[in-house]
Amino acid sequence: EMPLISVKNLKKYFNMSQSKEMIRAVDGISFDIYEGETFGLVGESGCGKSTTGKLILRLLNPTDGEVLLNGDNILKYNRKKFRKLRKDLQIVFQNSSSVLDPKMFAYDILVEPLILHKIVPRYELNEEVDRLLDMVGLPKSSKRKLPNEFSGGQKQRLIIARALATRPKFIICDEPVSSLDVSIQSQILNLLVKFQNEYSLTYLFIAHSLNVVRHISNRVGVMYLGKIVEIGSNKEIFKSP
Ligand code: ADP
Ligand code: ADP
Repeated sequence: EMPLISVKNLKKYFNMSQSKEMIRAVDGISFDIYEGETFGLVGESGCGKSTTGKLILRLLNPTDGEVLLNGDNILKYNRKKFRKLRKDLQIVFQNSSSVLDPKMFAYDILVEPLILHKIVPRYELNEEVDRLLDMVGLPKSSKRKLPNEFSGGQKQRLIIARALATRPKFIICDEPVSSLDVSIQSQILNLLVKFQNEYSLTYLFIAHSLNVVRHISNRVGVMYLGKIVEIGSNKEIFKSP
């Protein structure tokens, strides 16, 4: 069976302008993600997890390596070809102030990807926004709110709704619950699991804690200083004594 996503010897080195130092943020990692599974990518802060996610979505240019989607190297696609594909690949970032434009109403935040990728005709935009809000458990009245008028959990629901708007096949969940109160974390995780089952989504789930991925991932890769130091099924990673 061919993996949906195959990362091969991926590298990202950052040159520091002030010094001659080079940061090997991602230093030759390889892993496969199969359709319908959740691949957990874990490791301590700064080990290269987010950079890996951004490389897969071409939000950063790699130093070296390949990202195959159904066997095709998407890093070689020209911009136009990649833009078409982009609606299938989404990312849910950690809930932070930088992720949502503070001056955009929730309505516009959700409408933007719908228009960009022509998901529904214009006259259905309003209805589609209502549907997306409903899916993630937000009231219709949220449309007229700005990001800062939402609680942390609600903001994360909005971020998830925006990612789902283009009906993606693959979502990178980059620490989607780590900035939330513990009492809200399970709600958001349950929501992500629900959508995975409902829409046959494939997830790359990034977390700095093994606990978060333990229950939701099929396979896990453990990163340390830019490298994958351990990889295997949940059973192999979480050996019971
Ligand atoms: P993680 O997601 O595991 O916390 P990151 O991928 O964010 O780790 O970062 C990996 C390493 O790369 C860190 O040392 C970080 O400081 C560095 N890094 C990340 N982004 C940049 C950047 N734009 N410029 C320079 N260094 C960066
Ligand atoms: P279809 O492929 O016929 O649209 P699905 O079972 O895939 O049927 O989807 C059922 C409903 O959910 C449809 O209204 C579809 O537009 C919507 N839908 C499907 N996938 C997603 C997704 N990832 N995010 C949001 N809505 C979706």
